[in-house]
Amino acid sequence: LLKAENLQKQFGNTIVLKDISLEVNEGEVVAIIGPSGSGKSTLLRCLTQLEKVDKGRINVCGKQMVETIQNKAVYADYKTLHDIILDVGLVFQNFNLFPHYSVLKNIVDAQMNVLGIAKDKAKSKAMELLTKMNLKDRAGAYPCELSGGQQQRIAIARALALNPRILFFDEPTSALDPELTGEILKVIRSLAEEKMTMVIVTHEMSFAKDVADRVIFMDAGVIVEEGTPDAVFSNTINQRTKDFLQRFS
Ligand code: ATP
Ligand code: MG
Repeated sequence: LLKAENLQKQFGNTIVLKDISLEVNEGEVVAIIGPSGSGKSTLLRCLTQLEKVDKGRINVCGKQMVETIQNKAVYADYKTLHDIILDVGLVFQNFNLFPHYSVLKNIVDAQMNVLGIAKDKAKSKAMELLTKMNLKDRAGAYPCELSGGQQQRIAIARALALNPRILFFDEPTSALDPELTGEILKVIRSLAEEKMTMVIVTHEMSFAKDVADRVIFMDAGVIVEEGTPDAVFSNTINQRTKDFLQRFS
């Protein structure tokens, strides 16, 4: 469903992604772990077009987003890029809800603006998702009136309302108190059971172990180790991975 090859990205003189290649298959849940500054967010941002790579190839749902011609990244035309945007969803660490919109309006407007869906239809979809997130009674509230965990569930509902083929999460629980983390992990777990294709950057090792089909350990802009949760967590090969995981045990 997603294939990225030899991605490179630098900010000024800092090389942030060195030579990243990864594939994500339909229905797969991939967890990305790694130390702060290793390039995890940058990778997600490059895969979702929030950031442009300097070199490499990315194919999303059969559409070529970028390829490298004569050593230079060349992006697809506007229409293709727009189509690809519709295939991917991103849930951020800090929810990124519109503070001056109600919960319902946050979810409804996204559908109307991005997909051109009529208001009534967008509303019923929003209510359906709010029900699923156990937040139906908070439709009229404003984000500031909700807990962090509730805000994140709204952000997930908003992302799902756009019917992405792949959903990316960038540390969806790291802004939350431990007691609110569980409710988000539960939502993601239920999406995994529904076979939603997801790529999740997380510091929650036990969650990654539990929910991911595959775990990727990144350090200093490269994928150091990759495999099933069992292989990466229990039969760790690389010393850098071992050192990193040590901190969580
Ligand atoms: P964390 O776990 O702390 O979120 P991360 O693995 O997500 O870290 P990134 O945010 O991708 O790491 O950052 C990787 C490197 O790129 C860091 O050295 C960071 O300072 C640098 N960087 C990220 N975004 C920018 C930017 N817009 N301009 C300049 N440097 C940046
Ligand atoms: Mg990050």
